[in-house]
Amino acid sequence: MIIPKSGDIVKIGDELGFEEQFLGSQDSTYSENGNIYAAINGILKINENERIIHINAQNEEKRIIPRQGDIIIGEISMIRKNSVGVRMVSLNDKVIVNSGIFANIHVSNVSKSYVDKLDSVFQKTDLVRAKVLSKFGKEWRIATDAPNLGVILSKCKYCGHNMDRKGRDQVKCPFCNHTERKKIASDYAKVEIVLRF
Ligand SMILES: [Zn+2]
Repeated sequence: MIIPKSGDIVKIGDELGFEEQFLGSQDSTYSENGNIYAAINGILKINENERIIHINAQNEEKRIIPRQGDIIIGEISMIRKNSVGVRMVSLNDKVIVNSGIFANIHVSNVSKSYVDKLDSVFQKTDLVRAKVLSKFGKEWRIATDAPNLGVILSKCKYCGHNMDRKGRDQVKCPFCNHTERKKIASDYAKVEIVLRF
């Protein structure tokens, strides 16, 4: 028989290796008579250094539908009185082209501190990182109320330059000096969206 290698698609019951060689992950493999078998369908990942066999569920690799606890990056598309609309562009660092998935940040989920007006902390086209809370109708509720969450990039609404961070909660345009308040993520302007297909 052929032992599959890292990156191969495996099916439930496929033999993956020997227990003497590898340690199977408990959530995706099982052992019988000293052999390790696939407990789920998915893509085989073998960590050669640690000798660990793991299977990434196929639907997990391809998943583009958010779940509670996921981290998304989205573009602010609409600012209302009590919430902002966000168009999702990435889910757990995987870029989604034209996702058509929309989420909302309610004013109470923007920050640990009190936010009075949403247009004083966000503007249209801001890129935000947010955590998925729950599904609500056809859209998702998301939150930016943690230090690593919030705006990761903002463009000047007057001249389009990327704004620089200024202090704890402001951004400033290096070109025209326009300054705005924001709910900023701790790594503002240092983020590169990693393409992961
Ligand atoms: Zn400017």
